Amino acid sequence: MSVEGLTGEQNDGLVNYRVDPRGERVVVLPATCRAGRHSLVVAGYRAVADSAGVAVECQTCRAEGVSPAAWLFGTAGPLAARAEFDDQPYLDRRTRADAALPSWK
Ligand SMILES: [Zn+2]
Repeated sequence: MSVEGLTGEQNDGLVNYRVDPRGERVVVLPATCRAGRHSLVVAGYRAVADSAGVAVECQTCRAEGVSPAAWLFGTAGPLAARAEFDDQPYLDRRTRADAALPSWK
């Protein structure tokens, strides 16, 4: 399994981690797709983690040809035991790329 452009293109910085109350390492993925259009859990997503990083691709954006359809993160440290979704750590990263666009909200 691979995602085009993953290698060497961790555009979105390092992925976030947290440690849960049982001491397990949890990787925190954004709940909203890279384009800011869909909830990944609702729209469908594909997450791929390898030594190069983590890619989280929105299936709906991919199907519609929206680019970029995927978040591309670098990873640090050991592999997380599980993943969860939270937009909070990523809010500033999405607006960074959209800064030149007018705000619709
Ligand atoms: Zn999407």
